[in-house]
Amino acid sequence: MNKIIFTGTAPGFPARDRACSSFVLIVDKKIYQFDAGEGFSNSVQTYKIPYNNIENIFISHLHPDHITGIFLELQLMLLAKRTKPLDIFVPEEGVAGLEKACQMFYLIKEKFPFQFTFRPVRPNPVFRDGEFALYAYSNLHLSGNTEIIEKINAPNKMQSYSYILVIDGRRTLYSGDIKDENDLSGLTDDTHTVIIEGMHGDFAKIAEICAAGGVQRLVLTHLPIELYNRPHKLETVALKHGIKKLVIATDGLRLVL
Ligand SMILES: [Zn+2]
Ligand SMILES: [Zn+2]
Repeated sequence: MNKIIFTGTAPGFPARDRACSSFVLIVDKKIYQFDAGEGFSNSVQTYKIPYNNIENIFISHLHPDHITGIFLELQLMLLAKRTKPLDIFVPEEGVAGLEKACQMFYLIKEKFPFQFTFRPVRPNPVFRDGEFALYAYSNLHLSGNTEIIEKINAPNKMQSYSYILVIDGRRTLYSGDIKDENDLSGLTDDTHTVIIEGMHGDFAKIAEICAAGGVQRLVLTHLPIELYNRPHKLETVALKHGIKKLVIATDGLRLVL
């Protein structure tokens, strides 16, 4: 049975009882990981996910709540004597820096019993294996940094991706973090399940766009505490705008695809 297990559903403001953003996708017994927020290494043990078998990791963007868990995850795999090679797909702007950071944290490649490689996300498809194909679409989540980046002449490219997972012909959208609902343009059409972050954009408009695209199930993750604790309010808005099935993602939630 193909499924997603949420291993971290907290927003950028770290939460007391949720890990930062990540989930695993299990397709035909193969495990793929999306994002690597802090707490991932704890979650895989809590939810009994065989982390040494993770095939690939796909990162949406380089905000700490989506990537900094990668270092402890590599340490966990080192100590757990993983042997399977691991490709970590990240926005291109992060490849060199992450390689350097691993060295700095003494995650020295020569010490590892397995090969890990940071690779740039290159659309499209980013990845394909049998009945699973992954597509990446740039979004404007990081565009609010334009002014400061230009001012200090920083190298940041503000690369941020939403992912479409096609499994046995069925589409699931993982929005990653977005700027607003406009980033969903064209992505929700014929999409069965949408996993969207609940921090940015107008939720009523998001629900409307999803309903117009024929979305069967809308899953909210990355919710700030005030919305996470008041799901009924979100359910009412979703229903009013044509979404019958709204799911609030919690750590450990399993979603059958
Ligand atoms: Zn985030
Ligand atoms: Zn972000």
